[in-house]
Amino acid sequence: MKTVIEDMRAGVREDGIRRAGEIIKKGGLVAFPTETVYGLGANALDPEASGKIYAAKGRPSDNPLIVHIADWEALEGIVKEVPEAARKLGEAFWPGPLTMIFRRKETVPLTTTGGLETVAVRMPDHDIALALIRAGGGYIAAPSANTSGRPSPTRASHVQEDMDGIIDMIIDGGDVGIGLESTIVDFTEDSPVILRPGYLNQEMIAQVIGEVRMDQALIDEHSPRPPKAPGMKYRHYAPKAQLYIVEGEEEAVRRKIDDLASQEESRGRKAGILAAEESVPFYRHGILKVIGSREDELSISRHLFAILREFDAMEVQVIYSEAFYTPRMGQAIMNRLLKAAGHQIIKT
Ligand code: AMP
Ligand code: MG
Repeated sequence: MKTVIEDMRAGVREDGIRRAGEIIKKGGLVAFPTETVYGLGANALDPEASGKIYAAKGRPSDNPLIVHIADWEALEGIVKEVPEAARKLGEAFWPGPLTMIFRRKETVPLTTTGGLETVAVRMPDHDIALALIRAGGGYIAAPSANTSGRPSPTRASHVQEDMDGIIDMIIDGGDVGIGLESTIVDFTEDSPVILRPGYLNQEMIAQVIGEVRMDQALIDEHSPRPPKAPGMKYRHYAPKAQLYIVEGEEEAVRRKIDDLASQEESRGRKAGILAAEESVPFYRHGILKVIGSREDELSISRHLFAILREFDAMEVQVIYSEAFYTPRMGQAIMNRLLKAAGHQIIKT
């Protein structure tokens, strides 16, 4: 299959959106930008179409897809009820990096929900995504547009690396703004639960709806209960190299990482270092990639997955990363980084 690239880096182009919408309506696959990461879209109400997403990604069939909508009216068509707290949260943060879980109506096929009686829904804050959803019939199922297990794509070339020749179209909307997947809040339990941290943190959500708890599996990696979002149980975002997170007091961390990189180099191995801008002057060994500034959390979230892919391309054998427990998005950033590292932590 030839994968068509539609260039919309300068903004929405109606002719391209029309073509993309036709592909979706005919049951094909279109990758598109959102404010979080690139999504791999198909008609959410067509089981054959959404089934193709699992095949293209190599995604386990029990890992449900998020249904993307462009307006509130669309929500009524796919969910049984919208609790008051969910409505308030959506009014505060939709369109935006928020996914909410509801009980599904039978219009949503089980292929899309990974066999669950619940459905995840999001209204993305991105002109291209919203235009595509409307042109494609109103309901686009879309997980991140990477091969299962690889870092999520934050620019069109990442999607091309994984999906060229496998899907019908990639819409290039340039680099994404946030770079981490949406915050998922479940409204199908007795009280709201965060299943995946993202740009919106627990405090921001609690400010709108009052009490909200974190899924136990997010807080305790040895929790006996599996995570409620099936996707959170898989190793994820994994670069090809072994990745270690080095934690501790700032200066000690820098010294430790530089030592470890130096040892690797003396054995003839390529070592990558993932560090904040503030640490640049301290490293003398290894291949240094600067993720962003600790003063600018979005610069860190936005570059994380791209850097993991860059290290893959350079074929480094090992990566040492600083930790990024930044005040607002630290929980989301470290959730992805810890998964990428398979929870391998070196304490100084
Ligand atoms: P992705 O779009 O690749 O970031 O993956 C979507 C995430 O949403 C995965 O972790 C899924 O397991 C999760 N998810 C989707 N639908 C549901 C649902 N109905 N209940 C719980 N988690 C869900
Ligand atoms: Mg994903």
